[in-house]
Amino acid sequence: MRPTLVVGNWKMNGSRAVNAELLQGILAGLSPDIQASCAVCVPAPYLFQCEQLLAGSSVAWGAQDVATEPCGAFTGEVCVSMLHDFGCRYVIVGHSERRGYHGESNELVARKAKAALDAGLTPIVCIGETLEQREAGETNDVVGGQLHAVLELVGFEDVSRLVLAYEPVWAIGTGKTATPEMAQQVHADMRALVRKCNVDAAETVQILYGGSMKPENARELLAQPDIDGGLIGGAALKADDFLAILRAA
Ligand code: PGA
Repeated sequence: MRPTLVVGNWKMNGSRAVNAELLQGILAGLSPDIQASCAVCVPAPYLFQCEQLLAGSSVAWGAQDVATEPCGAFTGEVCVSMLHDFGCRYVIVGHSERRGYHGESNELVARKAKAALDAGLTPIVCIGETLEQREAGETNDVVGGQLHAVLELVGFEDVSRLVLAYEPVWAIGTGKTATPEMAQQVHADMRALVRKCNVDAAETVQILYGGSMKPENARELLAQPDIDGGLIGGAALKADDFLAILRAA
């Protein structure tokens, strides 16, 4: 049995005041019936606030992107050691908003995942097809290509330290969720690809689903055999919704 992981992706939302209320709400609502692990991935300026409010709690925290280089003249970038400095456990890499708006290639995403792993962070590698690609029957190729680039660079041994997230782009922030069966199929295909690289890792690697997961649909999605948790955008911005998803997990 793989442990379940629920991660909030706050995207570019929040303020000191709003974050404090949200995090305090989550902490206050954590109860013994919640078995899933949880984390929040926040905008970089708020990592310090997370460290202050969450240290010693069962809520981990992380960033939403990271540079490939360890330090130096890269204006605007944030490197792995800085994330480490603020107690991050996770970093999202390859979110479709970064691939789309910032032109991140499969190869760059793979390098970010490797930089995170090498620094002892857990990258949450996002993978997913657009609506056009799905309608053109390209889902397998796109998902396979994105995943393959990461597996190839990360290598056999470290594959088990990745967290993968299947996020169909057409389901992100749209209210359209992949049906549990659709999501399960892609998750199973992703796991089969991991199996080709490392048989043992395929059984342990956590594959999260992301894309309009909310309290109403979380239970059914999370009940699928190859769905090991959720990467939650909109519903992670309300403590009650986030807690409800955690309870469904
Ligand atoms: P959503 O976002 O839950 O708002 O669809 C998920 C994500 O982009 O990670």
